[in-house]
Amino acid sequence: MSQYWSATVRGLTPYVPGEQPKLDNLVKLNTNENPYPPSPRAVAAIAGELGGDGAALRLYPDPNGDRLKAAVADFFAGHAIRPANVFVGNSSDEVLAHVFQGLLKHERPILFPDITYSFYPVYCGLYGIEHVALPLADDFSIVADDYLRANGGIIFPNPNAPTGRLLPLAAIEQVVAGNPDSVVVVDEAYIDFAAAEVPSAVALVARYPNLLVVQTLSKSRSLAGLRVGFAVGHPQLIEALERVKNSFNSYPLDRLALAGAVAALDDREHYDATRSAVMATRAQLVADLEQLGFAVVPSAANFVFARHARRDAGELAAALRARAIIVRHFRLPRIDQHLRITVGTDEQCAALINALKEIL
Ligand SMILES: *Cc1c(COP(=O)(O)O)cnc(C)c1O
Repeated sequence: MSQYWSATVRGLTPYVPGEQPKLDNLVKLNTNENPYPPSPRAVAAIAGELGGDGAALRLYPDPNGDRLKAAVADFFAGHAIRPANVFVGNSSDEVLAHVFQGLLKHERPILFPDITYSFYPVYCGLYGIEHVALPLADDFSIVADDYLRANGGIIFPNPNAPTGRLLPLAAIEQVVAGNPDSVVVVDEAYIDFAAAEVPSAVALVARYPNLLVVQTLSKSRSLAGLRVGFAVGHPQLIEALERVKNSFNSYPLDRLALAGAVAALDDREHYDATRSAVMATRAQLVADLEQLGFAVVPSAANFVFARHARRDAGELAAALRARAIIVRHFRLPRIDQHLRITVGTDEQCAALINALKEIL
């Protein structure tokens, strides 16, 4: 605390990201990063943009990210998405920040689940937005009917974080159709790890002007270090985000990020191969954890949320840590006996299971 701080800064409760320890040889299963490298085409595009002498970096990047918007529209071409339906930003966290300020800040409180991405209440604090946290059901599913009350906007991740549970598209449509006067934001950071036949809510965008879908390249495209996210919605929702962005930072995506993101979105083969591998490893991890006495929430994400029948979650996390394996433990109501475990490679998950066998 300092006399130089603004009243806003004094009142903030910032988000605390999962740790990024500066140690080698850790089995790092705590921040839902993808265990596989990104598309080789993305890596080549970044190297190509940099060139031998980096001369391109003298120049500002495209402020509008037009090529990236086109690549996103192309990825969702089956759903009649055009570049005017797309907003791009420096990570989906940044996109979400603009969404809170530009589309969710209204007279009435916004709604989100009591157990959800812990950045949402932080944005509410930053922008002075009232919210009501609606309890998940006992099985951690979102109760769609609860979201049909008066509100200033609605946001939830699907699959939800940190539970991994998927809300079916029909329930999302019920919430969107039942709230024509407010924006419904579906944060699909993990949707690419739902079963192959589960469609993104982008499939509904052409029919609902109040639906905004946010995605990131951090998880399913293995590019958490590049910081690229985007939103898909009606052009008037996109325009709101552009207005906020152009009042904040005209060039949120640098040249390397734009080049890498376009190539990553174009490489469908690498995307399909790596997300399939994560889904296969997830199935094995769930079976192994259940064998050891864990109850595992059905996961459609690249992590699982598990609770042991007898052992304290905090103690398990500490014992794993002593064996150089880190998982995420939230000391929060309702979930302080759960561990959130990122799906790693088969080898990393085997190391986790072996360590748990020793501990238990
Ligand atoms: C990881 C995550 C994000 C943030 O992704 P970035 O693009 O890396 O900022 C957003 N929402 C949820 C629910 C996440 O888990």
